[in-house]
Amino acid sequence: MTTLAETAPGTLQVTDRKSARAFVDTHIVPYADAYDRQGRVPEELLERMTAAGLWAPFLPRDTGGGEMDGGMDLVTLGEVHEEVGRGCSSVRSLLTVHTMVSWAVQRWGSPAQREQWVPALGRGDVLAAFCLSEPGAGSDASGIASNVVEKNGGWVLNGVKKWITNGQRADLFLVFARTATSIGAFLVPRDSPGVEVTPIEDMLGTRASMIAEISFRDVALGPDALLGPSGFTAGMVLTGTLDLGRYSVATGSVGIIQAALEACAAYASRRTVGGSLLKDLPLIQAKLSDMVTDARAARLLVAEAGRLKDAGEASTIMATWVAKYFASTAAARHASEAVQIHGANGCGHDYPVARLYRDAKVMEIIEGSNEIQRVTIASQAEREII
Ligand SMILES: Cc1cc2nc3c(=O)[nH]c(=O)nc-3n(C[C@H](O)[C@H](O)[C@H](O)COP(=O)(O)OP(=O)(O)OC[C@H]3O[C@@H](n4cnc5c(N)ncnc54)[C@H](O)[C@@H]3O)c2cc1C
Repeated sequence: MTTLAETAPGTLQVTDRKSARAFVDTHIVPYADAYDRQGRVPEELLERMTAAGLWAPFLPRDTGGGEMDGGMDLVTLGEVHEEVGRGCSSVRSLLTVHTMVSWAVQRWGSPAQREQWVPALGRGDVLAAFCLSEPGAGSDASGIASNVVEKNGGWVLNGVKKWITNGQRADLFLVFARTATSIGAFLVPRDSPGVEVTPIEDMLGTRASMIAEISFRDVALGPDALLGPSGFTAGMVLTGTLDLGRYSVATGSVGIIQAALEACAAYASRRTVGGSLLKDLPLIQAKLSDMVTDARAARLLVAEAGRLKDAGEASTIMATWVAKYFASTAAARHASEAVQIHGANGCGHDYPVARLYRDAKVMEIIEGSNEIQRVTIASQAEREII
């Protein structure tokens, strides 16, 4: 059996925050602005991520000799995604959607589905995308129009999915579609006849995340395409995968705050205005201290959500909403301040803060927009308090 940890000799393995930081500083930070301008993450980095074991380290690993261990815990996974998000939100976005699909297959897949997909997803030989949103349905997933009908013991899928992260590159799509009775989640290989991928270019943020619109025209799927027992999948797969995706976006938002802080600390230590270094001006110090405080607070909220996930506590859902809401709004606020601290330099190409500013805005929209987070947090709080 192939070992998930198998790598090119000498490649740094990402196993925790420290190794993730080293990988990100070497292979992502110096190139993130170029990815942003080119509108894609190059294959070379995707391969390096495969070699480093970055794609789905939480999956059980074959330790050799057929013994399986449990893979990376979710607190550590969150720290790794924070580090990747510090380097480049587009790369973190690719990891997020791959994580969501890999986890769903591992959690709800049949033995045959797991055998077919999990090792390849774990290694990163197969990259996955998560297909829920449509031209007419985003926040309200119950409004999706894509549908499947049963035919000859299998399924026929029709519909259009929009804003699909890594849709341009992914090999496997997890597609949510209406069945006769509910909504189901279907595993659709990219090379299935009837699948058409149309790149969406020039997004505001996460510009290198290779977003696409994907249309499915009379795509014939086998009976094994449905993930989980019929009728059961909609609620569980959707809630579970979105929760994990939200957790990853929360961690990535912490990474954006940290990146903004590091960029501003460096700039403020060099730039003089009226004979003073920026770092010595009280108004600039106030902005920097708010960044430090919110980075720490957001990191703690994320860690708490991760700890509850590892403990199997249902309260992780609420903790993740709170963490994502706090971290994404703080990221948007501080990335904006980071541009402000850089002045005109913040508006040009020589510093990363303009990219952070655009990427941070996206964090307030994806995996549950700010408004949806607030509605959900308030209604859950009402249940808990009243
Ligand atoms: C960069 C990027 C990557 C993405 N990647 C993926 C992906 O990989 N897979 C995928 O399936 N989707 C993806 N999406 C889509 C994303 O999930 C949706 O954009 C998001 O769910 C919001 O849906 P919408 O854009 O249709 O906005 P709408 O649902 O139309 O909402 C419009 C506005 O109304 C607000 N609103 C909605 N309901 C309420 C309410 N009840 N009360 C108050 N305000 C409300 C929203 O917060 C928003 O501000 C991506 C989007 C972006 C921008």
